[in-house]
Amino acid sequence: MIRGNDPILLTPGPLTTSLRTKQAMLSDWGSWDAAFNAVTASIRRDVVEIINGGDDYTCVPLQGSGTFSVEAAIGTLVPRDGKVLVPNNGAYCARIVRICKYLGRAVVDLAVPEDQPATGAIVDAALSADPSITHVAQVHCETGAGMLNDLGGVSRACSAHGRSLIVDAMSSFAALPIDVRATPFDALVAASGKCLEGVPGMGFVIVKKSLLESRAGNAHSLAMDMHDQYVYMEKTTQWRYTPPTHVVAALRVAIDQFLEEGGQTKRLARYSANCSTLIDGMAKLGFRPFLKPATQAPIIVTFHAPPDPAYDFKSFYEMTRDRGYILYPGKLTQVETFRVGCIGAVDANEMRNVVSAVEQTLVAMGIRQVAPSAAARKAA
Ligand SMILES: *Cc1c(COP(=O)(O)O)cnc(C)c1O
Repeated sequence: MIRGNDPILLTPGPLTTSLRTKQAMLSDWGSWDAAFNAVTASIRRDVVEIINGGDDYTCVPLQGSGTFSVEAAIGTLVPRDGKVLVPNNGAYCARIVRICKYLGRAVVDLAVPEDQPATGAIVDAALSADPSITHVAQVHCETGAGMLNDLGGVSRACSAHGRSLIVDAMSSFAALPIDVRATPFDALVAASGKCLEGVPGMGFVIVKKSLLESRAGNAHSLAMDMHDQYVYMEKTTQWRYTPPTHVVAALRVAIDQFLEEGGQTKRLARYSANCSTLIDGMAKLGFRPFLKPATQAPIIVTFHAPPDPAYDFKSFYEMTRDRGYILYPGKLTQVETFRVGCIGAVDANEMRNVVSAVEQTLVAMGIRQVAPSAAARKAA
């Protein structure tokens, strides 16, 4: 890698951003600045538009990483005597279970195998069995393995049972199609630094206005109170407390590029091409994805690690990084894996290049056995 150039980030975030997005961070903004507050307002409008939320939905942004907004959404929207069902097939679902426990909200941790999607049928059965469940918190793309959960089916199950649905769409929003008119939900959580290709530092909740407005005084925490943030922002146009000004400015320019590219369908097309170029290239080297094609979201791909004794993730990571590409460790409990992201300001050319970097790394490490053993694939 040429010194001074950033490596390409093929991770679940932070992601590689475009030069234009980086350049948007070269100005300092004051929090009282009307032009800055107009930028915040325009971002709020644009993200509601992405899900076709119309006038019934609003966007409340919050400082911090995506998890802060998940926690704020649950703390603000779930009543203190509510009960949350979490269909759990991975690390980000497990994080929501932890959040509920921290916040003292009753939670049903519904285990789903990490290579199986959460479906309407699974949620329907759980809601039938326990009428005291008030909310379902569903991760759309479970970034732990790269699994696409059946949001449509889960939404229908929630509607049929009259329960509230909160979606963690952190790694899918703006890339996978989500239309609240076709797939009703009460709230959806996403962030600046994922498929909108901004920089990390703020999350946001797109929430049904009438619901949010009924939640004054429900949050357990001042800083995490989405209702308070909303009321203040509506009244003053300003953020409550210091805004992440550079993150907001970068997100504005990132959304401009998203719209210029052609919006969600074009972004999905680019990520899908990235994903198939990656999987095809890696297959030629012997690598096998952990998930079946039908459940593989074009966001991040989990590959079985080579069973060769010469393999260890740390060296593999360092040697591909030295060739310009940052990979990510696996997050599965049963089998040894690593992950390669398909999202960010990267195209199929970068995916061909990362495959080439991996090929050179295999040679340099002396790894001959790449394909997983039959036993490892069966354990999956
Ligand atoms: C990235 C991500 C989050 C948020 O993670 P942070 O590290 O807090 O940004 C939450 N859920 C999913 C599914 C994610 O991919």
